[in-house]
Amino acid sequence: MPFRYFGFAKTVLVALVLATTPLFVINIILNQYAESRALDEMQSMGQVSVHRAEEAITTTVSLLQRLDRDNVQTCAAEDRAIYEQLIIEYGMIDAIGLVDASGQRMCIIPDRELTAEVVLPPLRTDGPLVGIGMLERKYLGARAAVVSWDLKNETRLFAEVTPSVIAMDPGPEYLRSYRRTELRLGDNLLWYSIGGYTSEESNPSNMLSVDVPSELYPLIAMVQAPVSAAIQVVQQLKVIAAAACAGIALLFVAIGVWYSWRPESEANDEFVAAIRNGEFIPYYQPVMDIETKRVRGCEVLMRWRRPNGVIVSPGQFMAYAEANGHIFDMTRHMMRVSSEEVGKLYGENPDFKLSINLFAGHFLDREIVADIKSIFENSEISYQQIVVEVTERYPLEDMDLARKIMAEMQALGVRVALDDVGTGHGGMAYLQKLGVDIIKIDKMFIDSISSDDNSTTIVDSMVELADNLGMGIIAEGVEEEEQIDRLMELGVTAAQGYYFAQPMPAKEFIEFAERIEDEARERARIAAEAAAAEQAAAEAAMSEAAA
Ligand code: C2E
Ligand code: CA
Ligand code: CA
Repeated sequence: MPFRYFGFAKTVLVALVLATTPLFVINIILNQYAESRALDEMQSMGQVSVHRAEEAITTTVSLLQRLDRDNVQTCAAEDRAIYEQLIIEYGMIDAIGLVDASGQRMCIIPDRELTAEVVLPPLRTDGPLVGIGMLERKYLGARAAVVSWDLKNETRLFAEVTPSVIAMDPGPEYLRSYRRTELRLGDNLLWYSIGGYTSEESNPSNMLSVDVPSELYPLIAMVQAPVSAAIQVVQQLKVIAAAACAGIALLFVAIGVWYSWRPESEANDEFVAAIRNGEFIPYYQPVMDIETKRVRGCEVLMRWRRPNGVIVSPGQFMAYAEANGHIFDMTRHMMRVSSEEVGKLYGENPDFKLSINLFAGHFLDREIVADIKSIFENSEISYQQIVVEVTERYPLEDMDLARKIMAEMQALGVRVALDDVGTGHGGMAYLQKLGVDIIKIDKMFIDSISSDDNSTTIVDSMVELADNLGMGIIAEGVEEEEQIDRLMELGVTAAQGYYFAQPMPAKEFIEFAERIEDEARERARIAAEAAAAEQAAAEAAMSEAAA
Protein backbone atom coordinates (compact mmCIF):
# COMPACT_ATOMS: atom_id res chain seq x y z
CA MET A 1 0.00 0.00 0.00
CA PRO A 2 1.64 3.24 -1.01
CA PHE A 3 0.94 5.09 2.21
CA ARG A 4 2.37 8.51 2.81
CA TYR A 5 3.81 9.42 6.18
CA PHE A 6 4.43 12.84 7.61
CA GLY A 7 7.94 13.31 8.90
CA PHE A 8 8.08 12.16 12.48
CA ALA A 9 10.95 14.51 13.35
CA LYS A 10 9.00 17.43 11.95
CA THR A 11 6.01 16.55 14.06
CA VAL A 12 8.11 16.39 17.23
CA LEU A 13 9.75 19.70 16.41
CA VAL A 14 6.45 21.44 15.84
CA ALA A 15 5.10 19.97 19.07
CA LEU A 16 8.13 21.17 21.02
CA VAL A 17 7.88 24.67 19.61
CA LEU A 18 4.17 24.76 20.36
CA ALA A 19 4.82 23.64 23.91
CA THR A 20 7.95 25.66 24.73
CA THR A 21 6.70 28.97 23.38
CA PRO A 22 4.10 29.24 26.14
CA LEU A 23 6.83 28.20 28.59
CA PHE A 24 8.91 31.21 27.58
CA VAL A 25 5.95 33.51 27.87
CA ILE A 26 4.92 32.04 31.21
CA ASN A 27 8.48 32.46 32.44
CA ILE A 28 8.52 36.13 31.54
CA ILE A 29 5.09 36.73 33.03
CA LEU A 30 6.05 34.93 36.25
CA ASN A 31 9.30 36.87 36.56
CA GLN A 32 7.50 40.15 36.08
CA TYR A 33 4.86 39.15 38.55
CA ALA A 34 7.53 38.10 41.08
CA GLU A 35 9.44 41.36 40.67
CA SER A 36 6.41 43.57 41.03
CA ARG A 37 5.21 41.57 43.99
CA ALA A 38 8.65 41.85 45.66
CA LEU A 39 8.76 45.59 44.97
CA ASP A 40 5.35 45.96 46.60
CA GLU A 41 6.49 44.06 49.65
CA MET A 42 9.74 45.99 49.85
CA GLN A 43 7.78 49.21 49.63
CA SER A 44 5.65 48.17 52.55
CA MET A 45 8.73 46.97 54.47
CA GLY A 46 10.20 50.44 54.00
CA GLN A 47 6.96 52.05 55.01
CA VAL A 48 6.80 49.99 58.18
CA SER A 49 10.36 51.06 59.12
CA VAL A 50 9.68 54.71 58.39
CA HIS A 51 6.38 54.62 60.17
CA ARG A 52 7.89 53.01 63.24
CA ALA A 53 10.68 55.60 63.35
CA GLU A 54 8.20 58.44 62.89
CA GLU A 55 6.11 57.13 65.71
CA ALA A 56 9.11 56.77 68.00
CA ILE A 57 10.25 60.32 67.28
CA THR A 58 6.76 61.81 67.57
CA THR A 59 6.04 60.03 70.83
CA THR A 60 9.40 61.06 72.30
CA VAL A 61 9.07 64.66 71.16
CA SER A 62 5.59 64.98 72.61
CA LEU A 63 6.86 63.50 75.87
CA LEU A 64 9.67 66.05 76.06
CA GLN A 65 7.28 68.88 75.14
CA ARG A 66 5.00 67.79 77.92
CA LEU A 67 7.87 67.88 80.45
CA ASP A 68 8.81 71.37 79.25
CA ARG A 69 5.19 72.49 79.55
CA ASP A 70 4.93 71.00 83.04
CA ASN A 71 8.20 72.69 83.99
CA VAL A 72 9.93 69.42 84.58
CA GLN A 73 13.23 70.47 83.03
CA THR A 74 16.04 70.32 85.57
CA CYS A 75 18.38 67.74 87.05
CA ALA A 76 16.73 68.32 90.45
CA ALA A 77 15.65 65.36 92.56
CA GLU A 78 11.89 65.89 92.14
CA ASP A 79 12.28 66.11 88.34
CA ARG A 80 14.50 63.05 88.29
CA ALA A 81 11.78 61.12 90.09
CA ILE A 82 9.34 62.06 87.31
CA TYR A 83 11.87 61.03 84.64
CA GLU A 84 12.23 57.70 86.38
CA GLN A 85 8.50 57.30 86.45
CA LEU A 86 8.22 58.07 82.73
CA ILE A 87 10.94 55.60 81.77
CA ILE A 88 8.97 52.86 83.48
CA GLU A 89 5.80 54.05 81.77
CA TYR A 90 7.28 54.34 78.28
CA GLY A 91 8.92 51.09 77.31
CA MET A 92 10.55 52.68 74.28
CA ILE A 93 12.43 55.28 76.33
CA ASP A 94 15.68 53.98 77.80
CA ALA A 95 16.83 57.18 79.47
CA ILE A 96 15.93 60.83 80.01
CA GLY A 97 18.31 63.66 80.85
CA LEU A 98 19.58 67.10 80.06
CA VAL A 99 22.44 68.33 77.86
CA ASP A 100 24.07 71.68 77.77
CA ALA A 101 24.51 73.94 74.78
CA SER A 102 27.66 72.05 73.72
CA GLY A 103 25.80 68.77 73.63
CA GLN A 104 27.32 67.23 76.78
CA ARG A 105 25.12 65.45 79.29
CA MET A 106 24.31 67.28 82.45
CA CYS A 107 22.39 64.42 83.98
CA ILE A 108 20.89 61.17 82.90
CA ILE A 109 18.25 58.88 84.38
CA PRO A 110 18.80 56.06 85.08
CA ASP A 111 22.04 57.23 86.63
CA ARG A 112 25.08 56.72 84.47
CA GLU A 113 28.57 58.05 84.75
CA LEU A 114 28.65 61.35 82.91
CA THR A 115 31.43 61.28 80.33
CA ALA A 116 32.56 64.14 78.19
CA GLU A 117 30.86 62.42 75.29
CA VAL A 118 28.89 64.74 73.09
CA VAL A 119 25.63 63.02 72.47
CA LEU A 120 24.00 65.81 70.51
CA PRO A 121 25.30 68.40 68.13
CA PRO A 122 25.90 71.83 69.64
CA LEU A 123 22.78 73.85 70.07
CA ARG A 124 21.90 76.10 67.20
CA THR A 125 19.65 78.96 68.04
CA ASP A 126 18.33 79.22 64.51
CA GLY A 127 17.68 75.47 64.30
CA PRO A 128 14.53 73.57 64.96
CA LEU A 129 13.48 72.90 68.50
CA VAL A 130 13.78 69.19 68.00
CA GLY A 131 17.16 67.50 67.52
CA ILE A 132 17.87 63.91 66.69
CA GLY A 133 21.18 62.13 67.15
CA MET A 134 22.52 58.61 67.21
CA LEU A 135 24.41 56.78 69.91
CA GLU A 136 26.89 53.99 69.47
CA ARG A 137 24.70 51.66 71.48
CA LYS A 138 23.28 49.03 69.18
CA TYR A 139 20.74 46.33 69.28
CA LEU A 140 20.09 43.99 66.33
CA GLY A 141 21.48 46.38 63.76
CA ALA A 142 19.70 49.41 65.21
CA ARG A 143 21.32 52.21 67.11
CA ALA A 144 19.83 54.00 70.03
CA ALA A 145 18.53 57.41 68.98
CA VAL A 146 18.61 60.55 71.03
CA VAL A 147 15.77 63.00 70.64
CA SER A 148 16.22 66.44 72.15
CA TRP A 149 13.96 69.32 72.89
CA ASP A 150 15.35 72.85 73.28
CA LEU A 151 14.59 74.59 76.53
CA LYS A 152 14.64 78.32 77.09
CA ASN A 153 17.88 78.34 79.13
CA GLU A 154 20.07 76.93 76.34
CA THR A 155 19.86 73.48 77.78
CA ARG A 156 18.05 70.65 76.15
CA LEU A 157 15.90 67.87 77.45
CA PHE A 158 16.71 64.57 75.81
CA ALA A 159 15.42 61.07 75.71
CA GLU A 160 17.18 57.97 74.45
CA VAL A 161 14.97 55.80 72.26
CA THR A 162 15.57 52.10 72.65
CA PRO A 163 16.95 50.52 69.46
CA SER A 164 14.50 47.65 69.67
CA VAL A 165 11.75 50.06 68.66
CA ILE A 166 12.89 49.83 65.09
CA ALA A 167 15.12 46.81 65.21
CA MET A 168 12.35 44.70 63.97
CA ASP A 169 12.45 42.96 60.72
CA PRO A 170 9.33 43.22 58.70
CA GLY A 171 8.73 41.59 55.37
CA PRO A 172 8.04 38.17 53.98
CA GLU A 173 10.18 35.17 54.66
CA TYR A 174 11.43 34.76 51.11
CA LEU A 175 12.95 38.25 51.04
CA ARG A 176 14.19 38.36 54.61
CA SER A 177 17.30 36.27 54.01
CA TYR A 178 18.48 38.32 51.05
CA ARG A 179 17.22 41.85 51.50
CA ARG A 180 19.04 44.80 52.95
CA THR A 181 17.08 47.43 54.77
CA GLU A 182 18.58 50.77 55.80
CA LEU A 183 16.95 53.55 57.67
CA ARG A 184 18.82 56.84 57.49
CA LEU A 185 18.36 59.96 59.33
CA GLY A 186 19.17 63.35 57.83
CA ASP A 187 21.99 63.39 55.38
CA ASN A 188 23.69 60.19 56.22
CA LEU A 189 23.11 59.10 59.76
CA LEU A 190 22.44 55.41 59.78
CA TRP A 191 19.80 54.51 62.34
CA TYR A 192 19.11 51.01 61.34
CA SER A 193 20.57 48.55 58.85
CA ILE A 194 20.15 44.88 58.35
CA GLY A 195 21.02 42.39 55.63
CA GLY A 196 24.09 41.22 53.78
CA TYR A 197 24.19 43.58 50.84
CA THR A 198 25.34 47.10 50.96
CA SER A 199 24.22 49.46 48.30
CA GLU A 200 27.76 49.79 46.91
CA GLU A 201 28.47 46.10 46.60
CA SER A 202 25.60 45.11 44.47
CA ASN A 203 25.21 45.35 40.76
CA PRO A 204 22.11 47.50 40.32
CA SER A 205 20.89 45.49 37.34
CA ASN A 206 20.55 42.40 39.51
CA MET A 207 18.94 44.27 42.38
CA LEU A 208 15.54 45.57 43.16
CA SER A 209 15.60 48.74 45.20
CA VAL A 210 12.94 50.85 46.89
CA ASP A 211 13.32 54.20 48.71
CA VAL A 212 10.64 55.26 51.14
CA PRO A 213 11.04 58.83 52.50
CA SER A 214 9.23 60.07 55.57
CA GLU A 215 6.85 62.97 55.16
CA LEU A 216 7.36 64.16 58.75
CA TYR A 217 11.08 63.93 59.43
CA PRO A 218 14.30 63.78 57.41
CA LEU A 219 14.12 60.01 57.37
CA ILE A 220 14.49 57.63 54.52
CA ALA A 221 14.20 53.87 54.35
CA MET A 222 15.87 51.95 51.59
CA VAL A 223 15.09 48.31 50.89
CA GLN A 224 17.10 46.27 48.44
CA ALA A 225 16.82 42.66 47.37
CA PRO A 226 18.37 40.67 44.57
CA VAL A 227 16.08 39.86 41.67
CA SER A 228 16.93 36.20 42.17
CA ALA A 229 15.43 36.26 45.67
CA ALA A 230 12.26 37.83 44.37
CA ILE A 231 11.98 35.25 41.66
CA GLN A 232 12.28 32.45 44.17
CA VAL A 233 8.70 32.96 45.10
CA VAL A 234 7.55 31.85 41.66
CA GLN A 235 10.03 29.01 41.43
CA GLN A 236 7.41 26.45 42.26
CA LEU A 237 5.00 27.95 39.81
CA LYS A 238 7.72 27.74 37.21
CA VAL A 239 8.24 24.08 37.95
CA ILE A 240 4.51 23.56 37.63
CA ALA A 241 4.42 25.54 34.40
CA ALA A 242 7.36 23.59 33.04
CA ALA A 243 5.69 20.33 33.99
CA ALA A 244 2.46 21.50 32.38
CA CYS A 245 4.29 22.53 29.23
CA ALA A 246 6.14 19.24 29.18
CA GLY A 247 2.79 17.53 29.49
CA ILE A 248 1.40 19.64 26.68
CA ALA A 249 4.47 18.91 24.59
CA LEU A 250 3.99 15.21 25.16
CA LEU A 251 0.35 15.55 24.25
CA PHE A 252 1.27 17.41 21.08
CA VAL A 253 3.86 14.78 20.24
CA ALA A 254 1.31 12.06 20.87
CA ILE A 255 -1.24 13.83 18.71
CA GLY A 256 1.43 14.44 16.10
CA VAL A 257 2.50 10.84 16.13
CA TRP A 258 -1.07 9.74 15.91
CA TYR A 259 -1.66 12.21 13.13
CA SER A 260 1.39 11.30 11.13
CA TRP A 261 1.23 7.58 11.75
CA ARG A 262 -2.32 6.96 10.92
CA PRO A 263 -1.93 4.80 7.85
CA GLU A 264 -5.56 3.89 8.29
CA SER A 265 -7.16 7.27 7.90
CA GLU A 266 -4.38 8.52 5.68
CA ALA A 267 -4.80 5.57 3.35
CA ASN A 268 -8.51 5.91 3.64
CA ASP A 269 -8.48 9.50 2.47
CA GLU A 270 -6.22 8.54 -0.36
CA PHE A 271 -8.40 5.61 -1.22
CA VAL A 272 -11.66 7.50 -1.17
CA ALA A 273 -10.10 10.15 -3.39
CA ALA A 274 -8.82 7.47 -5.75
CA ILE A 275 -12.27 5.90 -5.98
CA ARG A 276 -13.84 9.27 -6.65
CA ASN A 277 -11.25 10.05 -9.29
CA GLY A 278 -11.95 6.78 -11.06
CA GLU A 279 -8.44 5.51 -10.54
CA PHE A 280 -9.72 1.94 -10.18
CA ILE A 281 -10.25 0.50 -13.61
CA PRO A 282 -11.08 -2.90 -15.05
CA TYR A 283 -8.59 -5.00 -16.96
CA TYR A 284 -9.85 -7.93 -18.94
CA GLN A 285 -8.27 -11.35 -19.22
CA PRO A 286 -9.67 -13.56 -21.95
CA VAL A 287 -11.10 -16.97 -21.13
CA MET A 288 -10.45 -19.27 -24.08
CA ASP A 289 -11.99 -22.39 -25.49
CA ILE A 290 -8.97 -24.63 -25.89
CA GLU A 291 -10.63 -26.86 -28.47
CA THR A 292 -11.90 -24.23 -30.83
CA LYS A 293 -9.26 -21.62 -29.88
CA ARG A 294 -12.06 -19.13 -29.63
CA VAL A 295 -12.87 -16.54 -27.01
CA ARG A 296 -15.40 -17.60 -24.40
CA GLY A 297 -15.34 -14.32 -22.62
CA CYS A 298 -13.18 -12.68 -20.02
CA GLU A 299 -12.59 -12.10 -16.36
CA VAL A 300 -12.69 -8.54 -15.11
CA LEU A 301 -9.62 -7.88 -12.92
CA MET A 302 -9.27 -4.63 -11.09
CA ARG A 303 -6.27 -2.35 -11.38
CA TRP A 304 -5.39 0.86 -9.60
CA ARG A 305 -4.06 3.28 -12.15
CA ARG A 306 -2.28 5.90 -10.08
CA PRO A 307 -2.22 9.49 -11.36
CA ASN A 308 1.45 8.99 -12.22
CA GLY A 309 0.47 6.15 -14.54
CA VAL A 310 1.70 3.31 -12.35
CA ILE A 311 -0.59 0.29 -12.48
CA VAL A 312 -1.09 -1.34 -9.09
CA SER A 313 -2.21 -4.97 -8.80
CA PRO A 314 -5.15 -5.98 -6.62
CA GLY A 315 -2.83 -7.88 -4.28
CA GLN A 316 -1.65 -4.47 -3.07
CA PHE A 317 -5.03 -3.03 -2.16
CA MET A 318 -7.79 -5.61 -2.31
CA ALA A 319 -7.52 -6.80 1.29
CA TYR A 320 -7.64 -3.18 2.43
CA ALA A 321 -10.60 -2.36 0.20
CA GLU A 322 -12.46 -5.40 1.50
CA ALA A 323 -11.65 -4.71 5.14
CA ASN A 324 -12.85 -1.11 4.87
CA GLY A 325 -15.93 -1.82 2.81
CA HIS A 326 -14.74 0.26 -0.12
CA ILE A 327 -14.95 -2.86 -2.23
CA PHE A 328 -18.72 -2.42 -2.60
CA ASP A 329 -18.36 0.88 -4.42
CA MET A 330 -15.40 -0.41 -6.33
CA THR A 331 -17.24 -3.52 -7.52
CA ARG A 332 -20.20 -1.43 -8.67
CA HIS A 333 -17.73 0.76 -10.48
CA MET A 334 -16.10 -2.30 -12.14
CA MET A 335 -19.45 -3.56 -13.36
CA ARG A 336 -20.57 -0.19 -14.64
CA VAL A 337 -17.33 0.59 -16.47
CA SER A 338 -17.04 -2.86 -17.98
CA SER A 339 -20.67 -2.73 -19.17
CA GLU A 340 -19.78 0.49 -20.97
CA GLU A 341 -16.38 -0.57 -22.26
CA VAL A 342 -17.16 -4.04 -23.59
CA GLY A 343 -20.96 -3.76 -23.93
CA LYS A 344 -20.82 -3.44 -27.70
CA LEU A 345 -18.45 -6.42 -28.06
CA TYR A 346 -20.72 -8.49 -25.85
CA GLY A 347 -23.81 -7.40 -27.73
CA GLU A 348 -22.21 -8.64 -30.93
CA ASN A 349 -21.04 -11.87 -29.31
CA PRO A 350 -23.94 -13.16 -27.24
CA ASP A 351 -22.00 -16.25 -26.20
CA PHE A 352 -19.29 -14.25 -24.47
CA LYS A 353 -19.25 -14.44 -20.69
CA LEU A 354 -18.11 -11.63 -18.41
CA SER A 355 -16.73 -12.74 -15.04
CA ILE A 356 -16.96 -10.33 -12.14
CA ASN A 357 -15.06 -11.03 -8.91
CA LEU A 358 -17.09 -10.73 -5.73
CA PHE A 359 -15.89 -11.27 -2.19
CA ALA A 360 -17.47 -13.00 0.78
CA GLY A 361 -19.00 -9.75 2.05
CA HIS A 362 -21.14 -9.47 -1.06
CA PHE A 363 -22.98 -12.56 0.06
CA LEU A 364 -24.15 -11.01 3.31
CA ASP A 365 -26.36 -8.43 1.63
CA ARG A 366 -28.87 -8.59 -1.22
CA GLU A 367 -27.65 -5.26 -2.47
CA ILE A 368 -25.32 -6.98 -4.91
CA VAL A 369 -28.36 -8.43 -6.70
CA ALA A 370 -29.89 -4.97 -6.92
CA ASP A 371 -26.57 -3.62 -8.24
CA ILE A 372 -26.37 -6.28 -10.94
CA LYS A 373 -29.94 -5.52 -11.95
CA SER A 374 -29.56 -1.79 -12.09
CA ILE A 375 -26.31 -1.95 -14.02
CA PHE A 376 -27.03 -4.72 -16.51
CA GLU A 377 -30.82 -4.40 -16.89
CA ASN A 378 -30.52 -1.97 -19.77
CA SER A 379 -26.99 -2.74 -20.87
CA GLU A 380 -25.87 -4.53 -24.00
CA ILE A 381 -24.60 -7.28 -21.75
CA SER A 382 -27.38 -9.64 -20.76
CA TYR A 383 -27.69 -11.35 -17.40
CA GLN A 384 -26.99 -14.62 -19.18
CA GLN A 385 -23.55 -13.31 -20.11
CA ILE A 386 -22.60 -12.51 -16.54
CA VAL A 387 -20.65 -14.78 -14.24
CA VAL A 388 -19.95 -13.81 -10.65
CA GLU A 389 -16.92 -15.39 -9.04
CA VAL A 390 -16.60 -16.08 -5.36
CA THR A 391 -13.43 -17.51 -3.96
CA GLU A 392 -13.22 -20.76 -2.11
CA ARG A 393 -10.16 -19.40 -0.31
CA TYR A 394 -12.16 -17.77 2.50
CA PRO A 395 -15.34 -19.17 4.02
CA LEU A 396 -18.71 -17.57 3.49
CA GLU A 397 -20.05 -16.42 6.83
CA ASP A 398 -23.69 -17.13 6.35
CA MET A 399 -24.04 -20.06 4.00
CA ASP A 400 -27.82 -19.98 3.88
CA LEU A 401 -27.98 -16.32 3.01
CA ALA A 402 -25.17 -16.76 0.47
CA ARG A 403 -27.10 -19.61 -1.10
CA LYS A 404 -30.23 -17.45 -1.33
CA ILE A 405 -28.36 -14.53 -2.86
CA MET A 406 -26.77 -16.83 -5.41
CA ALA A 407 -30.17 -18.32 -6.19
CA GLU A 408 -31.55 -14.84 -6.82
CA MET A 409 -28.72 -14.14 -9.22
CA GLN A 410 -29.19 -17.48 -10.92
CA ALA A 411 -32.88 -16.73 -11.27
CA LEU A 412 -31.90 -13.70 -13.34
CA GLY A 413 -29.74 -15.90 -15.56
CA VAL A 414 -26.44 -14.91 -13.95
CA ARG A 415 -24.01 -17.74 -13.42
CA VAL A 416 -22.02 -18.29 -10.26
CA ALA A 417 -18.45 -19.56 -10.38
CA LEU A 418 -16.42 -20.85 -7.47
CA ASP A 419 -12.94 -19.38 -7.80
CA ASP A 420 -9.61 -20.86 -6.71
CA VAL A 421 -11.11 -24.30 -6.26
CA GLY A 422 -8.81 -26.64 -4.42
CA THR A 423 -7.14 -23.97 -2.30
CA GLY A 424 -9.96 -23.51 0.17
CA HIS A 425 -11.42 -25.06 3.20
CA GLY A 426 -14.73 -26.23 1.76
CA GLY A 427 -13.99 -29.37 -0.12
CA MET A 428 -16.42 -31.16 -2.33
CA ALA A 429 -19.36 -30.95 0.07
CA TYR A 430 -19.15 -27.18 0.08
CA LEU A 431 -19.20 -27.16 -3.68
CA GLN A 432 -22.33 -29.23 -3.80
CA LYS A 433 -24.09 -27.25 -1.15
CA LEU A 434 -23.47 -23.91 -2.82
CA GLY A 435 -24.89 -25.04 -6.10
CA VAL A 436 -22.47 -23.08 -8.26
CA ASP A 437 -22.54 -23.25 -12.03
CA ILE A 438 -18.83 -23.17 -12.77
CA ILE A 439 -15.66 -24.10 -10.92
CA LYS A 440 -12.34 -22.46 -11.61
CA ILE A 441 -9.45 -24.75 -10.87
CA ASP A 442 -6.65 -22.87 -9.19
CA LYS A 443 -3.34 -22.25 -10.94
CA MET A 444 -1.63 -24.28 -8.22
CA PHE A 445 -3.04 -27.52 -9.72
CA ILE A 446 -2.62 -26.41 -13.31
CA ASP A 447 1.06 -25.63 -12.70
CA SER A 448 1.94 -29.20 -11.91
CA ILE A 449 -0.62 -30.89 -14.08
CA SER A 450 1.84 -32.21 -16.64
CA SER A 451 4.50 -33.48 -14.26
CA ASP A 452 2.70 -34.29 -11.06
CA ASP A 453 0.50 -37.35 -11.05
CA ASN A 454 -1.14 -36.29 -7.85
CA SER A 455 -2.26 -33.02 -9.30
CA THR A 456 -3.59 -34.71 -12.36
CA THR A 457 -5.63 -37.03 -10.15
CA ILE A 458 -7.10 -34.09 -8.26
CA VAL A 459 -8.02 -32.27 -11.45
CA ASP A 460 -9.42 -35.52 -12.75
CA SER A 461 -11.73 -35.88 -9.79
CA MET A 462 -12.76 -32.23 -10.04
CA VAL A 463 -13.69 -32.75 -13.66
CA GLU A 464 -15.65 -35.84 -12.76
CA LEU A 465 -17.49 -34.06 -9.99
CA ALA A 466 -18.23 -31.06 -12.20
CA ASP A 467 -19.59 -33.34 -14.87
CA ASN A 468 -21.75 -35.16 -12.36
CA LEU A 469 -23.13 -31.91 -10.98
CA GLY A 470 -23.52 -30.39 -14.42
CA MET A 471 -21.01 -27.63 -13.68
CA GLY A 472 -18.65 -25.97 -16.12
CA ILE A 473 -14.89 -25.93 -15.54
CA ILE A 474 -12.32 -23.28 -16.24
CA ALA A 475 -8.60 -23.91 -15.74
CA GLU A 476 -6.75 -20.92 -14.34
CA GLY A 477 -3.16 -19.82 -14.86
CA VAL A 478 -2.38 -21.76 -17.97
CA GLU A 479 1.09 -20.82 -19.16
CA GLU A 480 2.40 -23.80 -21.16
CA GLU A 481 1.23 -25.52 -24.30
CA GLU A 482 1.80 -28.85 -22.55
CA GLN A 483 -0.79 -27.94 -19.93
CA ILE A 484 -3.34 -27.40 -22.66
CA ASP A 485 -2.74 -30.87 -24.05
CA ARG A 486 -3.21 -32.40 -20.60
CA LEU A 487 -6.35 -30.38 -19.96
CA MET A 488 -7.81 -31.56 -23.23
CA GLU A 489 -7.06 -35.15 -22.28
CA LEU A 490 -8.83 -34.52 -18.97
CA GLY A 491 -11.81 -33.08 -20.75
CA VAL A 492 -11.36 -29.45 -19.64
CA THR A 493 -12.30 -27.12 -22.46
CA ALA A 494 -12.11 -23.62 -20.96
CA ALA A 495 -8.89 -22.00 -19.80
CA GLN A 496 -7.41 -18.70 -18.83
CA GLY A 497 -3.76 -17.77 -18.50
CA TYR A 498 -0.75 -15.97 -19.79
CA TYR A 499 -0.41 -18.60 -22.46
CA PHE A 500 -3.33 -16.88 -24.19
CA ALA A 501 -3.20 -13.40 -22.82
CA GLN A 502 -2.53 -11.34 -19.76
CA PRO A 503 -5.20 -9.10 -18.29
CA MET A 504 -5.37 -5.96 -20.46
CA PRO A 505 -7.25 -2.72 -20.89
CA ALA A 506 -10.61 -2.75 -22.66
CA LYS A 507 -9.37 -1.48 -26.02
CA GLU A 508 -6.72 -4.19 -26.27
CA PHE A 509 -9.11 -6.86 -25.11
CA ILE A 510 -11.67 -5.84 -27.73
CA GLU A 511 -9.01 -5.94 -30.43
CA PHE A 512 -7.81 -9.29 -29.15
CA ALA A 513 -11.31 -10.77 -29.11
CA GLU A 514 -12.18 -9.41 -32.56
CA ARG A 515 -8.95 -10.68 -34.04
CA ILE A 516 -9.37 -14.17 -32.52
CA GLU A 517 -12.99 -14.31 -33.63
CA ASP A 518 -12.11 -13.10 -37.14
CA GLU A 519 -9.41 -15.74 -37.36
CA ALA A 520 -11.83 -18.35 -36.15
CA ARG A 521 -14.42 -17.21 -38.66
CA GLU A 522 -11.77 -17.22 -41.37
CA ARG A 523 -10.75 -20.74 -40.34
CA ALA A 524 -14.39 -21.77 -40.39
CA ARG A 525 -14.85 -20.15 -43.78
CA ILE A 526 -11.82 -21.95 -45.18
CA ALA A 527 -12.96 -25.17 -43.58
CA ALA A 528 -16.44 -24.66 -44.96
CA GLU A 529 -15.03 -23.88 -48.40
CA ALA A 530 -12.83 -26.91 -48.22
CA ALA A 531 -15.74 -28.99 -47.12
CA ALA A 532 -17.86 -27.52 -49.89
CA ALA A 533 -15.13 -28.17 -52.42
CA GLU A 534 -14.79 -31.69 -51.14
CA GLN A 535 -18.52 -32.10 -51.32
CA ALA A 536 -18.55 -30.72 -54.83
CA ALA A 537 -15.72 -33.01 -55.80
CA ALA A 538 -17.49 -35.96 -54.30
CA GLU A 539 -20.69 -35.02 -56.04
CA ALA A 540 -18.83 -34.59 -59.30
CA ALA A 541 -17.24 -37.98 -58.87
CA MET A 542 -20.61 -39.47 -58.11
CA SER A 543 -22.24 -38.00 -61.17
CA GLU A 544 -19.29 -39.06 -63.29
CA ALA A 545 -19.63 -42.52 -62.03
CA ALA A 546 -23.33 -42.46 -62.66
CA ALA A 547 -22.80 -41.24 -66.17
P1 C2E B 1 -8.20 -14.31 -9.22
O1 C2E B 1 -9.63 -13.99 -9.27
O2 C2E B 1 -7.82 -15.70 -8.97
O3 C2E B 1 -7.61 -13.79 -10.59
C1 C2E B 1 -6.64 -14.45 -11.30
C2 C2E B 1 -5.31 -13.87 -11.03
O4 C2E B 1 -4.32 -14.65 -11.64
C3 C2E B 1 -5.17 -12.48 -11.63
O5 C2E B 1 -4.33 -11.77 -10.80
C4 C2E B 1 -4.50 -12.77 -12.94
O6 C2E B 1 -3.78 -11.68 -13.44
C5 C2E B 1 -3.59 -13.87 -12.56
N1 C2E B 1 -3.28 -14.73 -13.70
C6 C2E B 1 -4.04 -15.05 -14.76
N2 C2E B 1 -3.39 -15.90 -15.59
C7 C2E B 1 -2.17 -16.10 -15.04
C8 C2E B 1 -1.03 -16.89 -15.44
O7 C2E B 1 -0.99 -17.57 -16.45
N3 C2E B 1 0.04 -16.86 -14.60
C9 C2E B 1 0.03 -16.14 -13.46
N4 C2E B 1 1.11 -16.16 -12.72
N5 C2E B 1 -1.03 -15.38 -13.06
C10 C2E B 1 -2.11 -15.39 -13.84
P2 C2E B 1 -4.65 -10.32 -10.42
O8 C2E B 1 -5.27 -9.59 -11.56
O9 C2E B 1 -3.42 -9.78 -9.82
O10 C2E B 1 -5.74 -10.48 -9.33
C11 C2E B 1 -5.45 -11.07 -8.13
C12 C2E B 1 -6.68 -11.34 -7.34
O11 C2E B 1 -7.30 -10.15 -6.94
C13 C2E B 1 -7.73 -12.06 -8.11
O12 C2E B 1 -7.45 -13.40 -8.15
C14 C2E B 1 -8.94 -11.75 -7.30
O13 C2E B 1 -9.04 -12.61 -6.19
C15 C2E B 1 -8.65 -10.37 -6.82
N6 C2E B 1 -9.39 -9.43 -7.65
C16 C2E B 1 -9.05 -8.90 -8.84
N7 C2E B 1 -10.00 -8.05 -9.28
C17 C2E B 1 -10.97 -8.08 -8.34
C18 C2E B 1 -12.25 -7.46 -8.23
O14 C2E B 1 -12.68 -6.68 -9.09
N8 C2E B 1 -12.99 -7.75 -7.13
C19 C2E B 1 -12.55 -8.61 -6.18
N9 C2E B 1 -13.36 -8.86 -5.13
N10 C2E B 1 -11.37 -9.22 -6.25
C20 C2E B 1 -10.60 -8.98 -7.34
CA1 CA C 1 -11.38 -14.60 -10.15
CA1 CA D 1 -8.68 -17.55 -9.29
